Amino acid sequence: MPTLIIHNPATDAQITQLPADDAQSVASKARAARAAQPAWAARPIAERRACIVHFRAAVVAQLDALAAVMTSETGKPITMSRNELNGLLGRIDFFLDQGAAAVATETVFDDAAMREQIEHVPLGVVANISAWNYPWFVGCNVIIPALLTGNAVLYKPSEYATLTGLEIGRLLHEAGVPREVLAVLVGGGEVGAALLAQDIDGLFFTGSHATGTRIAQALGSRLVKLQLELGGKDPTYVCDDADPKLAAASLADGAMYNTGQSCCSVERIYVHEKIHDAFVQAFMETVRGFAIGDPTQDNTYIGAITRAPQLAVFDAQVQDARAKGATVLCGGERLPGPGNWYPPTVVTGVDHTMDLMREESFGPLIGIQKVADDAEAVHWMNDTRYGLTAGVFTPDESRARALLSQVHAGSVYWNCCDRVSPRLPWSGVGDSGVGLTLSTYGIQTFTRPKAWHLRRG
Ligand code: NAD
Repeated sequence: MPTLIIHNPATDAQITQLPADDAQSVASKARAARAAQPAWAARPIAERRACIVHFRAAVVAQLDALAAVMTSETGKPITMSRNELNGLLGRIDFFLDQGAAAVATETVFDDAAMREQIEHVPLGVVANISAWNYPWFVGCNVIIPALLTGNAVLYKPSEYATLTGLEIGRLLHEAGVPREVLAVLVGGGEVGAALLAQDIDGLFFTGSHATGTRIAQALGSRLVKLQLELGGKDPTYVCDDADPKLAAASLADGAMYNTGQSCCSVERIYVHEKIHDAFVQAFMETVRGFAIGDPTQDNTYIGAITRAPQLAVFDAQVQDARAKGATVLCGGERLPGPGNWYPPTVVTGVDHTMDLMREESFGPLIGIQKVADDAEAVHWMNDTRYGLTAGVFTPDESRARALLSQVHAGSVYWNCCDRVSPRLPWSGVGDSGVGLTLSTYGIQTFTRPKAWHLRRG
């Protein structure tokens, strides 16, 4: 049986070795899920909901220990691990509140002769292949509504967040979800690939564009429902009437929170030339206050880089920007190990010939570009294949609305950034993906609408 070795990215120390899945065990878990799903779907939704209520209570009771596990395997600062778990509770509450109503049968026409109804039928067996950066969020965005609506779930957490994935599985099983109905698959890309070969009714993926397109190709001929939540190169524009200090404080956090390893991290900033210098000065003041170091400490803001190979991406982007004339105001070079460390890096004098402004960095790097007016800002914001989020800072709501309605993005922000709400759909445009999670649509997405034509008599 293969093994998966788990390392602590902040120290390089080996945390543990786990037995991993292989093609046979993946197939057997998929068969068991298929056999178990009808009975799970046949339970009243109140029973499935009760399991999620127990799960939520267990997360609350064990929050500190769960946060420590996540920090150990991802290098996420411990306060941010706790924040993620606390944020998860709000998402679970939304699913608990809205789940039954979102999938209740709808009568859309009713007269003396005819009734028409829409029934929301579970997809069946769904696979969830997941990322490591917010493992509780991205895992549970799929697992919780999928289970609530009567699906069985084959869940493959990232190989960089496997201990967290196993904790999610443990707590759901202890809360009453049968092991066959929620199966955790341990391993890397090869286990994900083995999962694609199984008899599944839906594939819900969170991860990189490169892997997402590979998965889409693998499933293309199978006509399996496919959702891909992929990367981004999320822009924000700071208008000339914005308060540079307020905007800088918010955007420095939006760019660097979780060590910049968020799908909706601010990755590009455009600033009106009138306030560019004041903005950059305020941005640097905020960034200089970010404490970098041991992620287990409460005062740490910048933790470790979870995946060592990403360091080479940062090196290449900074080198490319420097070679093309940009100015690196801070950071720009790896920090010594053990572990994977990269400091907050702020680059000005950038333009769109540079990879830093075009390719996802997924780390604590940010390029700040000066623009002459709103039209130029919109032009550069849309100069990307991605379209996850975009923001505008200005006190003028109508100006923000006019600008944001021209920007291609699944989510848009006025005077905020790096924000996800369970009440709103989370989706991408272009290379940021297809489909959505969260909101009531993100509950219905785990069902298919079955049309009932009922003639009386
Ligand atoms: P990744 O693509 O490297 O891996 C994601 C998952 O795919 C992992 O579980 C991995 O084991 C699996 N996988 C790898 N190769 C596979 C294959 N051939 N077949 C099946 N599965 C395979 O991504 P990552 O490094 O885990 O995550 C970072 C990326 O995720 C970033 O681009 C980030 O923007 C994106 N992300 C997007 C969202 C969103 O909501 N849009 C949320 C979080 C992260």
